[in-house]
Amino acid sequence: MRILLIEDDPGLGGAVRDQIAAEGHVPDLAPTLAYARDLLATMPYDLILLDLGLPDGRGIDFLRSLRAKGSVTPVMILTAHDRITERIEGLNAGADDYMVKPFDLAELSARIAAVARRYAGNPNPLITLGRLEIDLAAHAIHGPEGQIDLSQREWIIFEALLQRPGQIVSKSQIEDQIYAFDSEVESNTIEVYVSRLRKKLGKDVVQTLRGLGYRLGTP
Ligand code: CA
Repeated sequence: MRILLIEDDPGLGGAVRDQIAAEGHVPDLAPTLAYARDLLATMPYDLILLDLGLPDGRGIDFLRSLRAKGSVTPVMILTAHDRITERIEGLNAGADDYMVKPFDLAELSARIAAVARRYAGNPNPLITLGRLEIDLAAHAIHGPEGQIDLSQREWIIFEALLQRPGQIVSKSQIEDQIYAFDSEVESNTIEVYVSRLRKKLGKDVVQTLRGLGYRLGTP
């Protein structure tokens, strides 16, 4: 997922950004609301993590204007523990979830995954794809011949396809996801990993559309 992190505390912002990237997501860190607006104008995001006290305004007002413009992007607010009214205000303004500072990074990761599943219309981490059973939380796949193990890069590619069922996902969209996890990627990397994925999961599961990209198929 591409995640916009709006946080002005450099220590917390950096730690959260690194954690998100380690989970295979693509984070952008915005220390101000103005910068966040610039990023949102040029890039679609799957999730926004929003601090409420920013140098150039209140996160709540930013969230309200986002929802007023019709944005349905999930928003998770990051608040201090003594700010209960702020949390309620945030949820009323259209936030999907909140985290209380200081928070555990592993819990943040689990909540991000949960929001992503709800957003994809699939709150159950177990999904069935033809003859494959996929556990999104455990990154595990069971096929007719037992467990299928994917490397982290293979999983990132497969997840990118799973998040957009029926849609064509371009090579550059997949590259964006991979680069966030590992900047040492060669130009033919995607082809190599897709071909491994097709071998492990079946050619009908990961379809190649020449010149366009890849698509999740139903075996
Ligand atoms: Ca702040």
